[in-house]
Amino acid sequence: MESIKPATRVDGVRYAIRDIVVLADEVKKSGKDILYLNIGDPVKFDFDVPEHLKEAVADAVRKGANGYAPSSGIPEAVDAIRNEAENLYGIRTIHNIFVSTGGSEAIDICLTALMNAGDNILLPAPGYPLYSAITNKLECVENYYYLDEEDGWQPDVDDIVSRIDERTRGLVIINPNNPTGSVCTREKLQQIAEVARENNLLVFADEIYSKLILDDLPHHSIAAVDPDLPVVTFNGLSKNYMAPGWRLGWAILSGAEELVSNYSENVDKLVRARLCANHPEQYAVKPALEGSTYHLEEAVIKLRERRDMTFNRLNEIRNISCVKPMGAFYAFPGLHIDEEDEKWVKGLLTETGVLVVHGSGFGEREGTRHFRVVFLPEPETLTQAFNKIEQFMEKYY
Ligand code: PLP
Repeated sequence: MESIKPATRVDGVRYAIRDIVVLADEVKKSGKDILYLNIGDPVKFDFDVPEHLKEAVADAVRKGANGYAPSSGIPEAVDAIRNEAENLYGIRTIHNIFVSTGGSEAIDICLTALMNAGDNILLPAPGYPLYSAITNKLECVENYYYLDEEDGWQPDVDDIVSRIDERTRGLVIINPNNPTGSVCTREKLQQIAEVARENNLLVFADEIYSKLILDDLPHHSIAAVDPDLPVVTFNGLSKNYMAPGWRLGWAILSGAEELVSNYSENVDKLVRARLCANHPEQYAVKPALEGSTYHLEEAVIKLRERRDMTFNRLNEIRNISCVKPMGAFYAFPGLHIDEEDEKWVKGLLTETGVLVVHGSGFGEREGTRHFRVVFLPEPETLTQAFNKIEQFMEKYY
């Protein structure tokens, strides 16, 4: 028998956030302590799932929610998602909602229901690498538009317009953004909505960090800014509710009925084919969206302090500059060096044990260098990490 030939459609799939961990494991084996500033999992740090959600899931298991659930999700969860979408986010033209195994599955389903091989989709650079992984899997083309570092990492709308061609089918906005922590202004969303309308693009609005806004500024959903525009809004329990391991997310399809109904049927076929999302965890959705928000108030206070530290310290280091993140728990500082950022990240890891992710893993303008730092760790760990980065820069750059 010959060696099994893997599919070439996976050749282009990269996920820098986890790929770099392979090297970190080797460095750790050599005896160095690793400071993990690489992964956006709040539970690895001093954040936890609110108790009332843990109880809801445990209770659901005891009461027998251990079989398959309805494909779109249990009615109690779907109703809570709809109420919140209408009343908190102002999305009033909802056509379809389904609960998924993490936001990731919803993203996969909704891209698959749209794209044919050879189509392209506008993705933010920098942005979250799952979108390019799925685009590759679908044998589609990643069509990157830039976020403008000079403009607080807001989307560059002229750049979006210049990249649209006859095979462009959709546009992804990550708001708040991973890896930059930027939050889209209403004005930018309006401009993007206009471009999407003119070019028949379906907008994917990834709002998985929507409740982690660190300053006194509003979060706008593009689906509310332009109610008739076809939009799929993604959200879930992974970040806002600190439960990434529960794998519980959802998608909300909104827009004028005549524009979205065919697409919605395609989504439903895929939703039914994979049976259902995790069942017991769905019982946490209603208490999450309608219960106490105390954990969020606490989390935002902690994150704001850690964000300020990150922003201030990094800007003091030679050849590093950092735009202030407004949401989520990431910063995406610029490195003013000649070397590729991946080489810098590997050098930093090997020499100091500080683990961050290279900017090229998220997409960046040619000739620029960045790294993503997660500011979830406690202040003492962050201080240690920034001291080490400072020493590393002084020694080599
Ligand atoms: N979207 C963004 C922007 C993310 O940063 C992440 C995870 O880091 C996801 C989606 C995936 O979310 P989930 O854990 O719900 O699959």
